[in-house]
Amino acid sequence: MNPNYSRILEKEIQRLDESGIKPRLLLHSCCAPCSSYVMEYLREHFRITVFYYNPNITSAEEYNYRLSEEKRLIEAYNRQVETQDFVGMNSTPRAEKIEILECPYDPENYLKAVKGYEDCPEGGDRCGICFEMRLRKTAEAARDGGYDCFTTTLTISPLKNAARLNEIGERVGAEYGIAFLPSDFKKKNGFKRSIELSAQFDLYRQNYCGCGFSKRQAQKTNT
Ligand code: SF4
Repeated sequence: MNPNYSRILEKEIQRLDESGIKPRLLLHSCCAPCSSYVMEYLREHFRITVFYYNPNITSAEEYNYRLSEEKRLIEAYNRQVETQDFVGMNSTPRAEKIEILECPYDPENYLKAVKGYEDCPEGGDRCGICFEMRLRKTAEAARDGGYDCFTTTLTISPLKNAARLNEIGERVGAEYGIAFLPSDFKKKNGFKRSIELSAQFDLYRQNYCGCGFSKRQAQKTNT
């Protein structure tokens, strides 16, 4: 049986709150909808920098649109902290402002890495390669930037295997000497809350994961 990653994170948060420490967290994010709940949940306990590194995304246009939505959401959250107005949010004045670190769009490396896995269904081996690529880069940036820990929003998706993501995160974290924060953000109604927040902030919510392969799969399913 897999560990209960959601419970492990809760315990870690409790420990941090008792110690009064708010670590610097580099949070890999795939898009604004997935990060909406994660930022709402974690911003009271960590000083968050969102790390936008997603070479898997199918086109520069899509990449930039998701990035602009991510920035718009962070600005809205930061305004709440400035004005201390948390109406409609599960947040308190303990919430911290959030920063963002964006990477250039880099699809060639992704396409090279998943060569031969183009026909895998979502959730298969191609996704494992894609997860590792993004987590590895996040771990490296967290180490270089002197962060205390790193994690990803990806476990919020019901289509993504949290155990696999946590295993990769632990492994690359150990390799780079940076603590990985385990999670299963879909739990505790996290996925449901991300849908509510997406509606509240009128976020662009794409109907496919990100790569061209997942886009084609979604188009086939919808026709
Ligand atoms: S379906 Fe999503 S996780 Fe899987 S390879 Fe494509 S973008 Fe990456």
